[in-house]
Amino acid sequence: MQNRNAVVTGSTSGIGLATVRELAGRGCHVVVNGFGDRAEIDRTCAEIAELSGTRIVYSGADLSRPEEARALMAEAADLLGPIDILVNNAGIQHVAALHEFPDDKWDLLLAVNLSAAFHTIKAAVPAMRERGWGRIVNTASVLGMVGAPHKPAYVAAKHGIIGLTKSVSIEVAGHGITCNAVCPGTVLTPIIERQIAQQAQVTGLPEDQVLKAVFLEKMPTGRLIGPEEVAAAIAFLCSDAAASITGAILPVDGGYTTH
Ligand code: NAD
Repeated sequence: MQNRNAVVTGSTSGIGLATVRELAGRGCHVVVNGFGDRAEIDRTCAEIAELSGTRIVYSGADLSRPEEARALMAEAADLLGPIDILVNNAGIQHVAALHEFPDDKWDLLLAVNLSAAFHTIKAAVPAMRERGWGRIVNTASVLGMVGAPHKPAYVAAKHGIIGLTKSVSIEVAGHGITCNAVCPGTVLTPIIERQIAQQAQVTGLPEDQVLKAVFLEKMPTGRLIGPEEVAAAIAFLCSDAAASITGAILPVDGGYTTH
């Protein structure tokens, strides 16, 4: 994977940041994207670049806006050259009972968790086809495979991205391009830390019981998954060794979806 150019959306924290570290460690140049304190992001990018000896650059594109998703891919190609690897990882959550679920949150979750991936993939595929090589990995979720209450927009968007993955994988097969999805179970990242408080409000459970009852009980392994475990699966799917894996929906879920 030496000198491959990668874009990882939503990579200023959690699974995305772990993926940047993993890809950079394997020799990739990476565009980091997402929100956060700019000075801290710059420090992190510089630290990863120093460790890996690769180029790590940042774009603050807001992926809730289609024009910014398209601009991210154009900026990435300007900064690094043609993009070989695209990881659509940006994601947000909102937890509320259906009858109280805000309409604007529905639109925002669909935009960030699903439509952004359509726009980045559409922008990335022509250059991948020209070069006869490409890797697209979408971060879905176990909630792309099964349902859960109080998360209608998230569950719909994650089921949608699995459909997008399958459709794209068929269309680009034969051009050296693969498109796969990973489905994490519960990974301790900021998105889950925020949800614990929201779930406590909706379920009426104290926060210390929410983690166990809402998240851990579903995973036979009974432990939280590390972001680096998901990153390793994503990086494998981006490697030459995974050339024949396409349209795959890969759970990294501690057994969540086995029962
Ligand atoms: P996280 O909150 O640490 O990461 C989310 C990233 O997306 C951050 O970098 C954030 O800045 C970025 N982001 C949010 N809105 C954005 C926007 N409008 N434009 C650009 N970037 C934006 O959480 P995470 O757990 O690392 O989540 C990464 C992905 O993994 C998400 O798609 C999430 O749905 C998925 N996932 C997480 C878990 C889990 O348990 N943590 C489980 C299944 C799936």
